[in-house]
Amino acid sequence: MTALQHALLVEDSPTQALLTLAELEKLPGVTVEHAISLAAALEAIAKTRFDVVFLDLTLPDSVGDETVRRFCGAAPELAVVVLTNHDDDEQAIQALEQGAQDYMLKARIDAASLSRSLRYSIHRKRAEILVREARDEALEANRQLERRMRQIKCLYGVSRALESLELPLQVALADVVGLIPAAWLRPETIGVRLTCLNGLIPGGFVETAGFEETPWRLEAQVFAGSRPAGRIEICWPESRPAEGDEAFASSERELVRELARRVGQALERACVQKELVQLATTDFLTAAYNRRHFMQTAGAEIQRAGRYGRPMALLMLDLDFFKRVNDERGHAAGDEALKAFVILARDVLRDQDIIGRMGGEEFAIALPETTLEAGIIVADRLRNRLGQLDITVGGGAPLRLTTSVGVAECKVKDGEGLEACLSRADAALYRAKAQGRNRVEQAE
Ligand code: GH3
Ligand code: MG
Ligand code: MG
Repeated sequence: MTALQHALLVEDSPTQALLTLAELEKLPGVTVEHAISLAAALEAIAKTRFDVVFLDLTLPDSVGDETVRRFCGAAPELAVVVLTNHDDDEQAIQALEQGAQDYMLKARIDAASLSRSLRYSIHRKRAEILVREARDEALEANRQLERRMRQIKCLYGVSRALESLELPLQVALADVVGLIPAAWLRPETIGVRLTCLNGLIPGGFVETAGFEETPWRLEAQVFAGSRPAGRIEICWPESRPAEGDEAFASSERELVRELARRVGQALERACVQKELVQLATTDFLTAAYNRRHFMQTAGAEIQRAGRYGRPMALLMLDLDFFKRVNDERGHAAGDEALKAFVILARDVLRDQDIIGRMGGEEFAIALPETTLEAGIIVADRLRNRLGQLDITVGGGAPLRLTTSVGVAECKVKDGEGLEACLSRADAALYRAKAQGRNRVEQAE
């Protein structure tokens, strides 16, 4: 059984219409409607679903390939057979290029040729639609692939930025933020902000110029290990074209989560690194520099002073009768006293001054940009403040401590090194002890 097919004849000549309709009506399973102008034809296809149209090119309201173009534009799913008056190949080929599926010479119309053309044009139209759909799918797949490629390139760049050891973390994270827009199609319309909570970045966050808080936002939390360490936010200043029902493709959400994961790993590495540096450079009990690191930094500072002819002073300190603290109040109280001393020293000193624990209850302090006279003032201030400090330790009355200090100014003009200057300060300290303690002595 043949499926019923619905045909539309668009023909303004009454005689030709009669002839063609007569032949069409001979076709089994085909019903026919007739329109005498393009406007009437367009009205008919808007009302009824047709399978095929037999289209005269010369109509009262449209002529030539214009007719085909307008008709095919209005009915892209419909098979079109063009009817031509003359054996005009040129016009017929043009009609096919404009979207028609077949053409027939009016002079040769009969039921058999109409039937063949009807079946052929419908078949061809279906094939064209399938090709078009396949092409659209391929284009979409290509778009997805391109997006994936951009995302992968972005992740690759981000990993490289985060792994490069030469870059300070802040610079690496600024690079990361700069790389992210390239993963999206319209880089100029997105803003990115990366916030860090763990104090590894002095400014707290890095962001691109276009960052603003908008409802069109993707966000992911950054964890360093299991600790919350910040977040990545990406904003679109304008509403973005939706993908299906979602404003963001799942691959985009995934990308942001992946970026957050990699940044988190880098932050964790940086934390571990920071801890390692801390362990290697500071004294565990008081957090003052350890002896080795003090010698390194104060040594560099002396060299700088020598290069620029700037003054620099060194203090050697030893807490007085410290053994008694341990003996009378216990070792834990002694530890608390050592910590309290370093906290006090930091309060008295400037930021650029360097304090090191040289061993036991013995400390060295380097004072850049400081003459002997100024160094003595600092030493006395520290000695005085310590003498007045009530050190609370677990149980019992607060502790009181004093310190003896030796002060030396580096002879930078004579090229004196750190070791030599420290030993002069140490000799002065020895004298301070010998002369009764709780005093400041200057080096020879
Ligand atoms: P002086 O005035 O001559 O410097 O007398 P002193 O008792 O301070 O000197 P001495 O060098 O005889 O004793 C230092 C004491 O410091 C001995 C040691 O037990 C104590 N000490 C050194 N390091 C630590 C520490 O880390 N914690 C505690 N609690 N005590 C420490
Ligand atoms: Mg001592
Ligand atoms: Mg000592």
